Amino acid sequence: MNNSTLALIQIENSDEVFTALGQASLDIFLGEFTDRVKQFTRTQDEIFEIQPNKLCILIRNVREPIQIELAAAKLTRLFDAPIQILDDEFKASIHVAFVPPKEDNLDIKSRLRIAESGLGEARSNNQPYVVQDAIVQTKIVAVKRTREIELAFGRGEFVMYFQPQMHSGYRNVVGAEGLMRWHHPVHGVLPPSEFIPYADQSAIMRSLTWFAIKSSVAQAAQWPEEVAVAVNISPMLLHDDELIPNVQDSLSIFNLAPQRLTLEITEDAMVEQPEKTLSVLHQLRAQGIKVAIDDFGTGYSSLAYFRDLPVDELKIDRSFVSSMLDRPRDHDIVKAIIDLAHTLGMKVVAEGVEDDATAATLQDLGADVLQGYWFSKPIDSAAFEEFLTR
Ligand code: C2E
Ligand code: CA
Ligand code: CA
Repeated sequence: MNNSTLALIQIENSDEVFTALGQASLDIFLGEFTDRVKQFTRTQDEIFEIQPNKLCILIRNVREPIQIELAAAKLTRLFDAPIQILDDEFKASIHVAFVPPKEDNLDIKSRLRIAESGLGEARSNNQPYVVQDAIVQTKIVAVKRTREIELAFGRGEFVMYFQPQMHSGYRNVVGAEGLMRWHHPVHGVLPPSEFIPYADQSAIMRSLTWFAIKSSVAQAAQWPEEVAVAVNISPMLLHDDELIPNVQDSLSIFNLAPQRLTLEITEDAMVEQPEKTLSVLHQLRAQGIKVAIDDFGTGYSSLAYFRDLPVDELKIDRSFVSSMLDRPRDHDIVKAIIDLAHTLGMKVVAEGVEDDATAATLQDLGADVLQGYWFSKPIDSAAFEEFLTR
């Protein structure tokens, strides 16, 4: 903690100097750049060279926003006058990013990363300088990511994968959970953790969800009748007026029996807006569509809450399943959930089954359906169809 503002300053046009005048002139240009930055600093400040055209300054005892603004004005004004290179003159085009002292607790690398993204902002908004803190940076990243997702959706880069769900006794495939993937042209196949958290904050999540429903229903219509499909519905979309019409449209376009579609909803989403939830669940039920409580055990509700809700299926969260052989307490919790769910007339799906011993224990405890890497990871629709014919 030394109460310093970090400034990252970059000359943007050094390549032009090199191209026009060559290396010797570039050296003079960059030498003058460093000299002018040194004119700005005081004895207590520190300068580091990041690259010859990019310097980092730790400015001590600059705390208030107004002091940062003054420092910014002073620093940028130093580059108003062009730089003399022998007989030529060249105006340095610079951008500066300031990271305020409240980020002092971060290590220098993290602060530089914030400053780098600040330079990017300054460049794309054509501003001589920006002040960027961690919160602003996070927001900027989120806005960019959301925009990328919108464009990628337009290009058809989102695809549904399917993870088999097995009958716990017979071990045949009784269904599949649709899980979305982003076929990114550069980064390859990206999991939902790379896009759902961003999409969920924006309107694009609706489009992604309607797409997930439609494409899962379309695939299921190609499968044998005994194989069902489940689609995840984000909490905020459970209460969306277009959810039910969208589901109905998909079922009728692809001619899939409603009993073959399950919507997976997390327990917290059901507990919010209880009246609206009850009405949506009743409408789904009236159409014959099934509803599952997803990630059960991770929220704050009790199973008793669901006694009066029309819910068909309960999915025990992976965190209990994966530890149930090592931790007797988790084993007992899983057993209690299965028994109570059955008492309430619900089917039980266990998620995250990674080995044979866990599968056998769950079978003994009476879980109806098993899902997990032990049987298969989520796979694309062609691989899933092949899995069905094994
Ligand atoms: P979820 O609904 O709980 O889905 C199960 C996750 O557990 C999937 O992760 C799956 O790949 C993973 N999984 C399955 N079996 C195993 C196992 O044996 N071991 C381990 N370690 N993991 C296993 P994935 O595909 O990364 O999806 C993560 C989450 O993203 C999903 O959690 C769901 O909440 C969300 N998601 C995925 N697709 C969609 C979608 O189309 N719409 C919405 N709203 N959310 C989605
Ligand atoms: Ca799920
Ligand atoms: Ca889950």
